[in-house]
Amino acid sequence: MNLPETETLRTMAEEALRACGARDEHPSADGTLIAGSPITGGVLCALTPSGPEQVADAIAEAHDAFARWRTVPAPQRGALVRRLGELLTEHKSDLATLVTLEAGKITSEALGEVQEMIDICEFAVGLSRQLYGRTMASERPGHRLMETWHPLGVVGVISAFNFPVAVWSWNTAVALVCGDTVVWKPSELTPLTAIACDALLRRAAEDVGAPTGVHRLVLGAGPVGEQLVDDPRVALVSATGSVRMGREVGPRVAQRFGRCLLELGGNNAVVVAPSADLDLAVRGIVFSAAGTAGQRCTSLRRLIVHSSIADAVVDRIAKAYGQLRVGNPLEDGVLVGPLIRGTAFEAMQAALDKARADGGIVACGGERVESGGGHYATPALVRMPDQTAVVREETFAPILYVLTYETLDEAIALHNDVPQGLSSAIFTMDQREAERFLAADGSDCGIANVNIGTSGAEIGGAFGGEKETGGGRESGSDAWKAYMRRATNTVNYSDQLPLAQGVRFG
Ligand code: NAD
Repeated sequence: MNLPETETLRTMAEEALRACGARDEHPSADGTLIAGSPITGGVLCALTPSGPEQVADAIAEAHDAFARWRTVPAPQRGALVRRLGELLTEHKSDLATLVTLEAGKITSEALGEVQEMIDICEFAVGLSRQLYGRTMASERPGHRLMETWHPLGVVGVISAFNFPVAVWSWNTAVALVCGDTVVWKPSELTPLTAIACDALLRRAAEDVGAPTGVHRLVLGAGPVGEQLVDDPRVALVSATGSVRMGREVGPRVAQRFGRCLLELGGNNAVVVAPSADLDLAVRGIVFSAAGTAGQRCTSLRRLIVHSSIADAVVDRIAKAYGQLRVGNPLEDGVLVGPLIRGTAFEAMQAALDKARADGGIVACGGERVESGGGHYATPALVRMPDQTAVVREETFAPILYVLTYETLDEAIALHNDVPQGLSSAIFTMDQREAERFLAADGSDCGIANVNIGTSGAEIGGAFGGEKETGGGRESGSDAWKAYMRRATNTVNYSDQLPLAQGVRFG
């Protein structure tokens, strides 16, 4: 495999950061927060993590800024997000470079992630004129009953390595137009991408005259996030990551009666019915399962295929997997980049060992691709006799387990019999089957698709999942409501004081 030198990657990172206007207060030669690249496994830069005092200051600044920001009319708040969208567009390729360097995404996917940021800014600008409340018919004469939506406060955004910028933008663009301010703790694995985004947002704030305290960046690992989790000034903690992290964060925020929005792991499945258009199905399956080296929360991990077509489907996927180029994500034609680090490769091997012990047969893949640097693996396709414990877990690597079914009821039961509930799909040309999959007794996931894979959502819909995935919804539709507080208002414009439900008092 032809990998660049880490020195070359370092130069690329420095140039991209400089182009985005990132000041150099973060990088430090002897810092303990190591920004690395999974491409070579080398170090890009050593940063200083935020100490407890800096985190407390960041929260205090965002809290102070909130007092002013919440009174700025929402369409004017939209002007800040519009400017951010312009700057993201201008720096699309710089940001995509940083995403590739830090998260290992192929260039096309990295550009797609930045495009997602631009899209959500556009959405949020429109939203800034549509933060609608309802007016309800009052039962009392001369009364008006309505609801209004008000800004909530400081939003603590904790994000995962695999979508280092899109998740931040879903939260931040919407939170800002809703009148909230943000303190962001990105993954400790992707700090440089975060520094670049923070610099662009700071510039956008200066350009439109918004208080710069509307956004603060804090860097570090779990303990830095914990400070956001425990601080009562943080009104909403929006945390994206593993179920393990959610189990720690959720109860702690609940203990102080804070609000929590959790976007956790998935264990996504596709059902392939006998009537499926197999050309379409195989393309959708391969992108969802092998894309991003299986490191998307929506990555396809389970294939539930009708027994009559199982051999044909497995053959076709194995053939497609054989064509996938695994390697340097900066190189044209490469479709599968590196795993984020060595522990991800080890977890992949451990899962494959468990699957084999459960009677699974590896149809193809799962091997290390020697690189002399990062950790690269061929996507694995594994036929399983049963949905055993390892299939019910999320292993954050490209493993696709294949199970078979006879009836649609059986397929749906298998599909739903996992602890997670993020994304799902069915490939079928039979409308009854498609509708059943989307119905109340069909897929139990937050995302359910027909004739399209499990990954690659658009920003217009609400994104999130059920069960151990955490129940949160972000991005489009009415997900904005999580970032605001609702007040119900009754206005009496009569000279009488009738009580509701006909109650008489005195
Ligand atoms: P992770 O759980 O290791 O880390 C996620 C973030 O949480 C990081 O910023 C980390 O520093 C922070 N964190 C960890 N422990 C914490 C604690 N106790 N308190 C506060 N913050 C803490 O996850 P990861 O490896 O970065 O990402 C992969 C996981 O994220 C997968 O499970 C994937 O499915 C999930 N994910 C979910 C979504 C979604 O929208 N549902 C999106 C992306 C990733």
